[in-house]
Amino acid sequence: MASVKLENLLKKYGDVEAVMGINLGIADGEFMAFLGPSGCGKSSTMRMIAGLEDITAGSIYFDGKRVNEVRPRDRKVAMAFETYALYPTLSVYENLAFPLRAAKWPQDQLDKRVREIAEIMWIAELLDRKPHELSSGQQQSVGLARALTREPAVFLLDEPISHLDTRQRIRMRAYLKSLHIELEYTMIYVTHDQEEAMALADRVAVMNLGLINQVGTPDEIFNNPADTFVAGFIGEPPMNFLNCEFVQENDHGFLKYNGIMMDMPPQYQPLIQKAEIPKRVILAVRPFYIDIGLEKSTRHTIPAEVFIVESLGDISIVSVDVLETRLQIVTQPGFRAEAKQQIWLAFDPSRTVLFDAETEKAVSVSVQD
Ligand code: ADP
Ligand code: MG
Repeated sequence: MASVKLENLLKKYGDVEAVMGINLGIADGEFMAFLGPSGCGKSSTMRMIAGLEDITAGSIYFDGKRVNEVRPRDRKVAMAFETYALYPTLSVYENLAFPLRAAKWPQDQLDKRVREIAEIMWIAELLDRKPHELSSGQQQSVGLARALTREPAVFLLDEPISHLDTRQRIRMRAYLKSLHIELEYTMIYVTHDQEEAMALADRVAVMNLGLINQVGTPDEIFNNPADTFVAGFIGEPPMNFLNCEFVQENDHGFLKYNGIMMDMPPQYQPLIQKAEIPKRVILAVRPFYIDIGLEKSTRHTIPAEVFIVESLGDISIVSVDVLETRLQIVTQPGFRAEAKQQIWLAFDPSRTVLFDAETEKAVSVSVQD
């Protein structure tokens, strides 16, 4: 296995700037996800790591050794992509054996390895079949298994299970995670699916427009998003935003949304005296951390009007309007309300995050001296 380092990595296709200078360290044995919307440069970055794409500028290191000029096959990367080109005339067994035969493995070791991987990937009963006799999900499993047969220095997966239906995808996700725990490969996993990235990765690099906006553990990017892009991209339903004005009265800070006054979350209080809160801020809170009251109370102070309630069985999603801003709230099942009904909201103050409305970056709560 190897550690991977990306240094000021840049990729241009003619005038298109696909990757605009990214820096990232991936530890030996780490599971790193590249997460971002379509076109943000995930695959380009991946293909440069694999050696399949010229590097416009910057460097890639494996275990501290620069590999920019190292040929793909000498980088010892294994790859699994969204579409797998299995050899149509070969059996599943021979498809799995192919990379090992090419590497001149002795027959007994080869046979042991193929059966071991087939067992791990739950395709042992398919070894005698031809690719055309497999479902698309089974083909993806075989493609993944083939990529795994040779123990790679780095294992690259680009949307490897996006073709599967939801149920198969969740099953494969659990396999991949257990596989990583078992094999301890360094894995880089490209996906546009935030749930997949969160479920699988040790750390997630959230990308947008050719840049990495934030790198962190799933918990870090969920609870402390670095900017509004990350905040809005992670979580389902996504984080709610309210454009507010910061108002200071003596030592006390308030947030004002169109005349509605809200207390400043306590973790930001120390910044008030230091005048480190921007005038225009975006208050963000996750759907799970808003509580609904049917009456106004000392806690439920934010007036809102119900738009619609969606009962999903285990939870309900309540869409409400606070003046012209629509928010989504996750409640316990069984919540009932009429459209246009007046309700009162309480935001969990320890769970609200402030962003500078101008830069869209998080207001840092660590007070700097
Ligand atoms: P992602 O994998 O995140 O969807 P890509 O790395 O595939 O993003 O693409 C990033 C950008 O580079 C996109 O704007 C895409 O259209 C462009 N791009 C990708 N490959 C090529 C190519 N071979 N030639 C020209 N433009 C490309
Ligand atoms: Mg891609």
